[in-house]
Amino acid sequence: MNAKPPSPATPASPPADDWRIDRERAVRLFGPAAHDWPIEIVEETGSTNADLMTRLKALPQRRNALARPIVRVAYLQTAGRGRRGRSWVAQPGDALLFSLACVVPRPIDGLAGLSLAIGSALVDGLRTLPVAAPGQIALKWPNDVLLEGDKLVGILVETAWSTPSATAVVIGIGTNVRGADTLAAKVRALNAGADAPPVPGTTPTALSRVWPNANLTDTLAAELNALESALQRFGQSGFAPFQARWNACHAYAGREVALFEQGKELMRGVAVGVDERGQLLVDTAQGREAVATGDISLRIADGGA
Ligand code: ATP
Repeated sequence: MNAKPPSPATPASPPADDWRIDRERAVRLFGPAAHDWPIEIVEETGSTNADLMTRLKALPQRRNALARPIVRVAYLQTAGRGRRGRSWVAQPGDALLFSLACVVPRPIDGLAGLSLAIGSALVDGLRTLPVAAPGQIALKWPNDVLLEGDKLVGILVETAWSTPSATAVVIGIGTNVRGADTLAAKVRALNAGADAPPVPGTTPTALSRVWPNANLTDTLAAELNALESALQRFGQSGFAPFQARWNACHAYAGREVALFEQGKELMRGVAVGVDERGQLLVDTAQGREAVATGDISLRIADGGA
């Protein structure tokens, strides 16, 4: 009697929710120190930054108040924010949205350049992913990560408290992983109307443009690995050790730029790079100016993308 041949294995169809973070894989990919960090993953919250700010504010204001950073990831943020309270648009599964709370062993005036150091670390982390042309991931002052000139990552650093020897901060990071076209249309409609021409450096893009298998899990692991060493280094020495790396990844080096404050042009000139405090150096008709971060937006002014 012939045995019935085994039915061919049905290829496992990916579960409907396979865009979610694979915690086991993420933990495997983390470096040893990041492995110990508590990583919370929630379906939905208002804002992961706001959640962790509340948590930090409840701690005793001491340098050793938090043994290790806390990471909180949310698939959906109903009140995600960028700088100046502007909204951050994201679709569940298309964006990696998380915040990291930590106590930096420096007073508040020793935090100059922290958001630039984070940006520089993220570029290094993202360039370890299997993306085509990793050199196309670059920095726009003060703290945007661009991909092929468009906006890939937004960073928002907030301070919960500070003492003469420590500052509690929450670092919020939004990375567009997939769905660039839908996102770009939504952000355009939100900002200037659907028919407005795109402004270089502000159009959203996503990792899937250069990495077909872009996924939240590997992106999270790459970013956390890079942040772990960057936070250690920043805690010890501030921005200075990041200056050269930031400048090496500067998207607008040598380009003519304009700086705006509340819609008004403040300055125009050639972007040189950043100094050891993270200030942008601009060669203007009046000479070299150093611009500190604040309520300032930077745009390319030489007509290119
Ligand atoms: P600017 O260069 O205009 O000063 P910014 O770098 O300070 O901007 P953020 O505050 O980091 O911008 O981000 C908020 C802005 O980013 C929003 O006003 C919107 O234009 C844009 N934006 C919102 N969601 C996304 C997204 N998912 N990807 C890229 N850009 C986005």
